[in-house]
Amino acid sequence: MKVIVTGGAGFIGSAVCRLLAGQKGCKVLNLDKLTYAADLRTVEVVSGRRNYAFVQEDICNKSPIERVFEDFQPDAVMHLAAESHVDRSIDGPAEFIQTNVVGTFTLLEVAREYFNRLDDVAKRVFRFHHVSTDEVFGTLGNEGLFTEETPYAPNSPYSASKAGSDHLVRAWHHTYGLPVIISNCSNNYGPYQFPEKLIPLMILNILHGKKLPVYGSGLNTRDWLYVEDHAEALFTILTKGKVGERYNVGGCNELSNLDVVRKVFDTVTALVPETGCHSFDDVVEFVSDRPGHDWRYAIDPTKIRTELGWTPKHNFDAGLLQTVKWYIAHRDWWEPILKNKYSGERLGKGSVE
Ligand code: NAD
Repeated sequence: MKVIVTGGAGFIGSAVCRLLAGQKGCKVLNLDKLTYAADLRTVEVVSGRRNYAFVQEDICNKSPIERVFEDFQPDAVMHLAAESHVDRSIDGPAEFIQTNVVGTFTLLEVAREYFNRLDDVAKRVFRFHHVSTDEVFGTLGNEGLFTEETPYAPNSPYSASKAGSDHLVRAWHHTYGLPVIISNCSNNYGPYQFPEKLIPLMILNILHGKKLPVYGSGLNTRDWLYVEDHAEALFTILTKGKVGERYNVGGCNELSNLDVVRKVFDTVTALVPETGCHSFDDVVEFVSDRPGHDWRYAIDPTKIRTELGWTPKHNFDAGLLQTVKWYIAHRDWWEPILKNKYSGERLGKGSVE
């Protein structure tokens, strides 16, 4: 199977590339623009393999992407390239519309034209797997779970742009017969996550003896999934999922942001007592809420579990311990990022303050 992975130099895409490159009979082409969020060190372990290659391209540029398809002749596309940080989407939504909506449209058009030229055997094999988020469903109250039937109600520029891309993918199936599958996943965490996201930001703040900013009351709740479990879910969906279907992916690890930060604090300070941070209450700092902050997300993963047989291997505590140990051992990975790309400042305040 020959697979183009878009966004393969990002956090989740790189986990997918590492997984696919380890599969017998699989050839991976990582297609990535290399934005601020990308890092080719995430795929260093597979970069020397004969079944792995990288190409730097922007999914918004049709002609170069067409050439990539013609040269590589993929059996599948796993589309992960996106602008992915909600806070940045509040500060600058234009890039989100460009990559997530226009970029997905461009990729769909290239895939459609390529698909139409395939013979019948290759047509039966071909898949366009669109990787999306549970944030497209909007917010839950204290009860209930997102299922595959939950109506879309995106609230942030990020989730609206992802919802737009999901709708385009769905339409390209219904109108043009492109064999697509869509998956919507909850919050991921794990090694190689860019330090603007909650868990790595907190780990690095604790290691540097900094305050731990928590938005609003800290009681907003998310469902967390270890990134390698997500990569395995995506592989399962690609190989066993039904064309035209959608699958929700989640870890059944619902936690308030405050509980997440407390667990990160306990884990880091147990492993590195010399941080000098002893009391969580002394370091936690409640800051103004994110504008439009969704209250709660939680996934019902019954469909992927019962129909495709996927279950996550990591519970939150085990995955977090692995993640914290990884960040402690990989200063060489995050120190240049903090120095050159992002030093932990607050993003996405909008006009609230
Ligand atoms: P990320 O920000 O870590 O990586 C995104 C990658 O896409 C980067 O390598 C970047 O260079 C690339 N990219 C951006 N614009 C591009 C363009 N125009 N052309 C080509 N490449 C481009 O994101 P992530 O956290 O790995 O998320 C990957 C996908 O999974 C996204 O589609 C996101 O919406 C979705 N998702 C993420 C989460 C999560 O918790 N991180 C949860 C559910 C779904």
